[in-house]
Amino acid sequence: MVSQPILVILMGPPGAGKGTQAKRLAAELGLPHVASGDIFREHVKRGTELGRKAQPYMDRGELVPDDITIAMIIERLSRPDCERGALLDGFPRTVPQAQALDERLAEINWCISAVPYIRVSEPVLLRRLSGRRICRNCGAVYHIEFRPPARPGVCDVCGGPLYQRPDDSLETARRRLQVYFEQTAPVLAYYENQGLLVEIDGEQGIEEVYATLRDSVISMMQVPA
Ligand code: ADP
Ligand code: ADP
Ligand code: ZN
Repeated sequence: MVSQPILVILMGPPGAGKGTQAKRLAAELGLPHVASGDIFREHVKRGTELGRKAQPYMDRGELVPDDITIAMIIERLSRPDCERGALLDGFPRTVPQAQALDERLAEINWCISAVPYIRVSEPVLLRRLSGRRICRNCGAVYHIEFRPPARPGVCDVCGGPLYQRPDDSLETARRRLQVYFEQTAPVLAYYENQGLLVEIDGEQGIEEVYATLRDSVISMMQVPA
């Protein structure tokens, strides 16, 4: 029997821990980790046309326009590695994005399995964003205080150099949080109305958040009898 694809949408404000948790959960569920921010940063790095269009918005901490973002994610979900589903991180971030995703899912006959929402308060988010460091080589995520690498500035996984995202500066991080509350928070109600939203306390340690997240996603996945 062919099982239904699994589509998990990880929600939460910037700095909530989506990327940290998604990398591990995607590996455990055997699904590709589809992170809109990572895809945009890759395009910016390669200097593609999409990257040139997205960069000014990213630099200001604002959202890339819906038409560009929706087309990019729908194309990504149609690749062969997403045949069995995906773990979405950072998309949808507006109600029109959520509606466009639903229309696409209806066409291909997919259902959303679960929408875990990692809740974290604003002061904690700002501390997390300002101390975040990323490996330039493999994308592993660190925090100077909460998840420091063994050697400062060096990735534990691959030895690559760590960097700070320009949009993690205090000023741009504040703008991103404001944009989140204005444009992305309404998406939570959208999924709550569909009975898909599960709230996770994101202020626990990384391991505790993972255990709670994993258990709630697994309990919402339709397991064939
Ligand atoms: P974070 O992990 O801190 O929440 P992301 O890496 O997900 O940030 O996103 C970085 C930037 O990429 C955003 O500030 C925005 O400019 C752009 N971006 C990512 N996802 C979307 C989206 N779904 N819609 C519009 N813009 C997006
Ligand atoms: P997001 O993708 O939601 O923007 P990240 O996964 O990049 O968030 O995490 C933001 C920062 O907070 C990173 O520096 C990460 O190491 C740190 N972090 C993630 N989860 C926790 C946690 N539960 N407790 C403390 N720090 C965390
Ligand atoms: Zn690395």
